[in-house]
Formats: sequence, structure tokens, C-alpha cells
Amino acid sequence: MPKRISTGKGSPLREIIPEGSSRRELTELHVHLGGSVPIYRLWEMGIERGIRGVAGSYEDFITLLHRSTTNTGDLDKYLEVFDIVELIQAGPRAVAEAIMIAVNGAYRTGGMRRLGPGGEGGDPDPIFAINQLEIRFNPMKRTGLLLSKGGVQGLFDVDRIIRAACEAATNSEIAYKNGISTGLIICFGRDLSWEVNETLADKVCLWKKSYPNKIIGVDIAGPESALALDDEANLERMAALYQRAGDGIGKTVHVGETEHVSIDTFIKTVKALSPHRVAHPVVAARAYWDDKDARGLELLAQEGIVCELCVHSNLLTGAIRSIDEYGKFLRTLDQFEIAYTFSTDSPALQLTTLAGELEMLLASSAATPEQIVAALENADQATFIATQHNKKTAEEK
Ligand SMILES: [Zn+2]
Repeated sequence: MPKRISTGKGSPLREIIPEGSSRRELTELHVHLGGSVPIYRLWEMGIERGIRGVAGSYEDFITLLHRSTTNTGDLDKYLEVFDIVELIQAGPRAVAEAIMIAVNGAYRTGGMRRLGPGGEGGDPDPIFAINQLEIRFNPMKRTGLLLSKGGVQGLFDVDRIIRAACEAATNSEIAYKNGISTGLIICFGRDLSWEVNETLADKVCLWKKSYPNKIIGVDIAGPESALALDDEANLERMAALYQRAGDGIGKTVHVGETEHVSIDTFIKTVKALSPHRVAHPVVAARAYWDDKDARGLELLAQEGIVCELCVHSNLLTGAIRSIDEYGKFLRTLDQFEIAYTFSTDSPALQLTTLAGELEMLLASSAATPEQIVAALENADQATFIATQHNKKTAEEK
């Protein structure tokens, strides 16, 4: 791979990732496709596809899509604009394009600390390149299905969409001469019908036979308010869905990000789905802080479950109330010896980068350099991408 010129002068991250360090290539394992295409590229895709009526002007489009403190506050508000993005990304061609843009963006801008207003790269000194990227998305939401929410038929063929995504991920690796590895996590939707989710589980099972190194995991995403899984029957059905997707696949789950999920539901969900990783399990820490209830944290520690943390996103959704509370969250996870990783969730819509988020943690003293280094190593170890170093771990499981 060609050497990248990078100095990152004046950055606290430079202390951790010195010039020429082997740490210059990082793993990012929690980004959504809907949040990984820069706003300016979504605008261009919309124009190219003849989509109109999304916003009056480019400036309005930026204001609408940019996830900031003015238009978020909770998870439901944070997710509001993803419907628009998913429509722009609907269909096999647009999905393939979006995957390529997401991979390009991770490699080129993941290590930058500044971006332009539409998400253009704006840092001449990127500190690192992301060289292992897990992208998660819901193929059903790219079929045009949400034009008829509650229905089961989309405009586009979901098989073509999944195949196009796998091909795009493969092509990106060829293009980068293996400078970046990409894996796809297929997300079930808390806001989709069981019928649609069950069809999706069958599609995962089918397509991972053809693309075992590209379809690497399953997840549940979407508003916890739509399906908290506090009902036994629903939980059993979700567990069956994970089983239906097949063996030998990485399992993660968004659970406990909001107060819609109680600590009891959190524990039941983790036990029912037995995930390798969980995203934003804030409820486990909050139960401990507020009620001295350590059951959730103990379960995570006991099962060796790795936590996927997305700092800026957790602050925007109000899951974590301040950067100081973030520091407390990390110290609590350390206290229980629970491994965690840092990712960006939706870098393009938040106008953030992994480098920017790590720098925010360091600059605010919410995380120590040691905590950051450990989290970066955890990401290398916990990735579902079949690399040499984790192949052995996967075989042992
Ligand atoms: Zn997420």
C-alpha cells in the first residue's frame, strides 16, 4: 500500500498513533450504510436519480440531514431522516454505489479531524486509515418498502440488492488492492413487520452461502420504541429469527440505548439472542448507577460480550447525557472488565469521523490514552471480518 503523508500536528491522538506506527490502520465495526454516505454525495445521488422534493435547496438538504443537537435529542428523532436516505439508496445500483462511497469515505476521511459542510474531506493530515470496515444495513429498507410501510412488497428485488452490496464490497477490496477489508452486517428492523424480517433472515441464510466473507453478521436496529422486546412471545420470535439466519455468523444487537428497554428486558434479550457484541448497552450501566443493579454488567462480563460504543451518536440521542458521563460509562465498563470499542455509527450525517470522536474523548479527558488503545485493539479482535488473527478465535467458538 502506498505510504500516506500524515503528521496530525497538535493532535492528542498523535500521542497514541505516532507517525509510522502500526496503529495507523484501524478497524471500525459499527457504521450504518444510511449514515455513511456524505451528505453532498447523497445530494448528487438524488440529482442523478431524478429525485426531487427532498429539500428546497442544497443548503436546506444539509440542514435537514445533518444530525446535530438542534434536530435530535432522542433516538426516534435521531432516526427521523433515515427514511429519506434509504429511499435515495434504494435499489441494487444505488446500494452498490453507497457501499463503494462508504468504503472510500472510511479509508480517506476516517482518520481526518475536519470535514467540509457536506462531509467533504477537509484535513490534509489524516492520522490513520480505516482498513477493516463493517457496514451494516437493512436491505429491505432499500427496496422502496417504506413507501408502503407495513406492506411486504418493495419496488426493488431484495436478492439483487444483497448481491449488489456483496459485489460492491468485493470490488472495493480489489480496487484498494486489499488495503481495506469490508464486511456487511444485515440489520433486522424493529420497525418492520415479522413477515418482512423473517424473509430477510431467509435471504441472509441464502446469500451468505455465496458470499461467506462478505455477509459477516446480523443485528437488530431501528427505534426501541417500536419493539422493545419486553414481551416473551416477541423475544422468542426474535431469537428464532437469529437462528433462522443460520450458524457461523457474527451476532450483534442494538439494545438498551433508550429507556424503552428496561434492565430486565436487556438481560432477557442478551440471554435469548446470545450475541458476540452489543451496541450501546447504556441501560446496563444506568441500572448500576441508579439502583445498584449490576446484573446487566455482570452478564456482559461473564459472557465476554464486546460493547460497540458510538460516542457522538450516544450524546445526540441522549443515551449518555454529557461527555463527562461518557467518562463515567467507560470507567464503569472497565470496573467490570467489559471490553468496548469506539465507532461513529453515522459519520456522514453527524459530520464526524472516527479520528474526531477519539480526539474529543481525549481532549475532554473522558477517556485516557490507555482506554483508547485498548478499545482500538478490541475492535481488531472483535471484528467479524475473517482476518488471519481472528480466524482462529472464530474456529474456537
Ligand atoms: Zn447503530
